[in-house]
Amino acid sequence: EKPQLLDDEEGGVLFFSSSLSSSSSYGYASLEKQRQRLPVYKYRNSILYLVETHSTSIIVGETGSGKTTQIPRYLKEAGWAEGGRVIACTQPRRLAVQAVASRVAEEMGVKLGDEVGYTIRFEDLTNSELTRVKFLTDGVLLREMMTDPLLSKYSVIMVDEAHERSISTDILLGLLKKIQRRRPELRLIIASATIEAKSMAAFFDTSKKRRGSEDKQHGLKTEPAILSVEGRGYNVQVFYAEEPVPDYLRAAVSTVMSIHNQEPPGDILVFLTGQDDIDAAVELLTEEAQNNGKSSPGLTILPLYSGLSRADQDLVFSPTPRGKRKVVLSTNIAETSLTLEGVVYVVDSGFSKQRFYNPITDVENLIVAPISKASARQRAGRAGRVRPGKCYRLYTEEYYLKEMSTEGIPEIQRTSLVSSVIQLKALGIDNILGFDWPASPSPEAMIRALEVLYSLGVVDDDAKLTSPAGFQIAEIPLDPMISKMILASNELGCSEEILTIAAVLSIQSIWVSSRGSQKELDEAKMRFAAAEGDHVTFLNVYKGFLKCNKSPTWCHKNFVNYQAMKKVIEIREQLRRTAQRIGIILKSCDGDTQVVRKAVTAGYFANACRLEAFSHSGMYKTLRGSQEVYIHPSSILFRVNPKWILFHSLVSTDRQYMRNVITIDPAWLIEAAPHFYRHRQPDSFHQ
Ligand code: ADP
Ligand code: MG
Repeated sequence: EKPQLLDDEEGGVLFFSSSLSSSSSYGYASLEKQRQRLPVYKYRNSILYLVETHSTSIIVGETGSGKTTQIPRYLKEAGWAEGGRVIACTQPRRLAVQAVASRVAEEMGVKLGDEVGYTIRFEDLTNSELTRVKFLTDGVLLREMMTDPLLSKYSVIMVDEAHERSISTDILLGLLKKIQRRRPELRLIIASATIEAKSMAAFFDTSKKRRGSEDKQHGLKTEPAILSVEGRGYNVQVFYAEEPVPDYLRAAVSTVMSIHNQEPPGDILVFLTGQDDIDAAVELLTEEAQNNGKSSPGLTILPLYSGLSRADQDLVFSPTPRGKRKVVLSTNIAETSLTLEGVVYVVDSGFSKQRFYNPITDVENLIVAPISKASARQRAGRAGRVRPGKCYRLYTEEYYLKEMSTEGIPEIQRTSLVSSVIQLKALGIDNILGFDWPASPSPEAMIRALEVLYSLGVVDDDAKLTSPAGFQIAEIPLDPMISKMILASNELGCSEEILTIAAVLSIQSIWVSSRGSQKELDEAKMRFAAAEGDHVTFLNVYKGFLKCNKSPTWCHKNFVNYQAMKKVIEIREQLRRTAQRIGIILKSCDGDTQVVRKAVTAGYFANACRLEAFSHSGMYKTLRGSQEVYIHPSSILFRVNPKWILFHSLVSTDRQYMRNVITIDPAWLIEAAPHFYRHRQPDSFHQ
């Protein structure tokens, strides 16, 4: 029989309240009752038994069944955190780490950061004495291996969302398998929303290589256990577009409006691809809802993507008041990482933003690409949490059946491997090609990565980390290119400036994009514009922000995102500490933008481009690979089109656009990376 979730909880206000005040007796009991209704609850003892008796347990269960929030707590209750040990639970996404940790702390009635804590890059909310259950990104756990190679403080490590096959998850799995050989008592739990358990089990099955399937000392089964949590999802009725949809953004907005106008109460979850299209949809939808005015009040429109402030996250998770309808416009973070209670309608654009890397042209970019059938099924499932729901797919049934791929491609097979290779090297794994990967990366991508690292001076002729540069670069928790830029700034005497630039480049955007007209935003930007490009412009914004004493009013007036700037200050402070630890001396170049640009070139020489002489459309070609690229409209140099530039990253829509661009002198390229550009004809560098 189906449990009735919301019926006996009038209004459900205390039910999901995310403040600690809900630990009043009523609210507390409610949370407790809610926990017992989760599908994993019935499996509590089986899960604990498997973990006790097996090195590795694989747990498959539908999204929302309670894997992430309940299992770490069960482990704690069973004593796995006694004697100073810690239970870890990894997530591929930072936002999921924060949201889940704060939920678990709330359920346990403890302060976040004490017994239950989390760590993501640039943010550590744990206490080394108190924290027993720790949520973290898989990338952070990889970093922890650099100081504690056997991860000795952890008794159980739960690798969550394994079905996503993020590159860090895959590397982590390979390394954990190695660690288990040295630490047979370490327990692993691999949690996943879809059944791909068999190949995972085969990967972790070391029993065949050994004599028995038992670890002699610990009496543990080394053959992985598989447990499937029977979920409870309600039926979801699926609707398809009758014709191919030319513009999924507009289609999504009009679908939301017709659901709102015609369907009974229930929240709407819309899957879009990223901050840019989500912000645009929020704006369109707000307009539509206003025009719709009197006939349909009560639409609360909320975005959900990583980088959202804590307050905005809380809004998404807080219960919808009676008589209102919530619309959440999300990236695929809501596909399996987070559960939003109360969703009855799902609108699926059929797309997500994915990283793709082409080892031939040596270009990595973020592409809005079709999702797989597996993802489409997950998305639809989100409509059936509280009662039977409906899913509107903005693509045709024929497309779904005939053209959508069955599964996604593991990230490791579609990204640049530069960061991963340097991390493995720093952990002492030199034979990268022989590493035991859950899915093998392509040899071309591997060779490209080694080549870039060689040109950056990170590895030597034998592909070993160089000392000290290679080790210093590995120590900074950023892309090796950014780290190299920081290292170079030390020699060039502009580390203060480069740290600011590095901090700004690690967040999405410092501009407010969804307010007022494009024209106003452009005018605001012009107040800070530097002819040398975006990086130098960031320095002007940062200077202005400090000068006005970090005033929110100043930010508002200048279309600068206040939250983003606060984050920049925080990240910069952490980078400053890391930089000082590895021996970088803080120094400002006092406005000498040439040295700043040289330092950027030292890291990003591989992204150099030249304006095509015959082109009036602003077409550039990358020096390596001759890829066609254009300056993104958000750049200060859009329409300025200087001859020689470097870009920070690429995004593609109809074309490949360069985000964050800076002007350079091509002579610096040969200086920065003689090996990389050695095959170039000298005349192609002439101005
Ligand atoms: P799984 O990991 O199996 O997908 P979770 O443990 O994340 O499931 O979620 C279990 C339940 O906990 C969800 O159904 C949801 O109702 C509730 N929940 C999880 N996180 C939050 C949150 N941040 N706010 C409110 N409810 C939450
Ligand atoms: Mg989960």
